[in-house]
Amino acid sequence: MRVEMIPDSMTPDFHTSLRRWFRSHGRELPWRAAPTPYAVLVSEFMLQQTTVAAVIPYFVRWMQRFPDIATLAAAPESDVLKLWEGLGYYSRARNLHRAAQSVTAQCGGNIPSDLPSLRSLPGIGPYTAAAIAAFAFDQCVPVLDANINRVVARLFNYRENITTKAGRDFLELAAASLLPKSGGRRHASALMDLGATVCRSGEPNCTACPVHHFCKAVDPEELPVKPPKKTITEITDWRSFSLTDDSIFLIESPGPTWRGLWILPPGEPTPDPLATLVYSITRYKVTLGISLIFPQPNWTPFPLSNLPPMPSPHRKALRLILAKKTPRCLAREEA
Ligand code: SF4
Repeated sequence: MRVEMIPDSMTPDFHTSLRRWFRSHGRELPWRAAPTPYAVLVSEFMLQQTTVAAVIPYFVRWMQRFPDIATLAAAPESDVLKLWEGLGYYSRARNLHRAAQSVTAQCGGNIPSDLPSLRSLPGIGPYTAAAIAAFAFDQCVPVLDANINRVVARLFNYRENITTKAGRDFLELAAASLLPKSGGRRHASALMDLGATVCRSGEPNCTACPVHHFCKAVDPEELPVKPPKKTITEITDWRSFSLTDDSIFLIESPGPTWRGLWILPPGEPTPDPLATLVYSITRYKVTLGISLIFPQPNWTPFPLSNLPPMPSPHRKALRLILAKKTPRCLAREEA
């Protein structure tokens, strides 16, 4: 398949249109206010698989508690996981912590600016390395997140699967052909915001698009082409609620999911659960059922006022139960 690129002679006009639009329509985000390498590093880890709206309050809290890379590196992992609680995909928090320790120990606390050094840090793949290079160091490199992938695939009317090696190579080449000579931060931010607010998934607002004169998309709502979504498997997970003297019993997750977090212990199916809730994780739709049970010797009690880091579904289930009845009430019933 032949794909025409935007001619070199037109890219200055493309950049001017995009820059003008970004000046008046770009999003104000807390990590953009002062894009230090540390702020960008934190935001990029948080934004992996999570929306901007969900990340903002976490980012603000994080920068208050861990204002610089040395503070983060010195913090206990349990504090790091506790502050991440509710954001999900906890391996990101552990990797961010390890990356901070590595930068502090090996780079004198200075986050590297070159792609190979960035890639050598825990949890940093090609996308995150490029994003840090562009947003923190203003480098002109292709930054290909989901929003920019969509914009680029549509601009070039790329009608093949973008998740294959050929598809990724094409997007890299096409995005590189759009790069300005300077101002990599603004360029990547503008393309990202264009994808998030105008060239949206399924419903592009082409009449409001500052670069529609350059766009070759024929049926943009059909692009980019991706493989069919994986089928979702439904499972039920029974967990236990056990409480004595205002302490709840938990076990440390054996991993790999939720490693380093504390979860409700395994439970038995019951026709009358204390709480049920449904959540999604990777390709599973999980119905979480909670039964009341006596504590086992290998379970650990934690005071309700000082719980360790817990994954969202288990913390929510706990909150649901405690909202229905007081802990003492449940303890009496069991007794
Ligand atoms: S013209 Fe439409 S499809 Fe093309 S980049 Fe703009 S919003 Fe996206």
